Amino acid sequence: MVTTCVLPGTSVTSKMPVLFVGHGSPMNAIDDNVFSHTWRKLGATLPRPRAILCISAHWQTTGSQITAMASPPTIHDFSGFPQALFDVHYPAPGSPEWAAYICQLDTRYAINADYIWGLDHGSWSVLRHMFPEADIPVLQLSLDLAKTPPQHYQFARLLAPLRDEGILIMGSGNIVHNLQEVIWRDEAHDWAVEINKIIIQRIKDHDHAALINYTGLHPSILQAVPTDEHYLPLLYILALQEPQDSVNFFNEKVTLGAISMHGVSIG
Ligand code: ZN
Repeated sequence: MVTTCVLPGTSVTSKMPVLFVGHGSPMNAIDDNVFSHTWRKLGATLPRPRAILCISAHWQTTGSQITAMASPPTIHDFSGFPQALFDVHYPAPGSPEWAAYICQLDTRYAINADYIWGLDHGSWSVLRHMFPEADIPVLQLSLDLAKTPPQHYQFARLLAPLRDEGILIMGSGNIVHNLQEVIWRDEAHDWAVEINKIIIQRIKDHDHAALINYTGLHPSILQAVPTDEHYLPLLYILALQEPQDSVNFFNEKVTLGAISMHGVSIG
């Protein structure tokens, strides 16, 4: 039974798109570059969401958690970067009302309200460009460490009604992400480019089965996706694809050796 209380934001009549964003280096939060430019343009062209739900690579928990505080803190979950990055705060409100609503969407799955986390850089490094006014409520949904990739994909389906409610669902990670193979230049390893291309083609082919069972995509896939936390947010977005949706790509680049910045807009 879904709550009938009045939810924040003006309701919308059209279905919201869903986004996967390759967030890359935290420096993209303050850099004026091709990636941040694209995010700004994207934010300006999207219908204004009633709220934003972000599935970030940087929040992994046991069990599913959703931020439910009224004012989520900005989390600086990195080290070794300039002070200017630590000085950034993204003061978007949270929404206890939307958190409660989402927790009740599908009672087969337990989602627990969280009052400790906040917005990590997977969210704010992108959102401060997309929605610089920080006046739209933002919630984060964690990645449950106990779930397998097929279970993440299945679980993500429960979020489908939110598209009709005016919620922008955004997965934030990187399709290819290997920090051990990073080179601090705008170059890419051949294998990173090749595997990224294969994954993009599977998205174009709507071959979600292959993308869920991604370890079978390429003999060197574990070089490109050595751990799955930056890849899993993509599965959340793919799970929300409807037959009539168009699929578009942005920031189509692999950089820093092994970081794919590719974004996907569905709907
Ligand atoms: Zn990251």
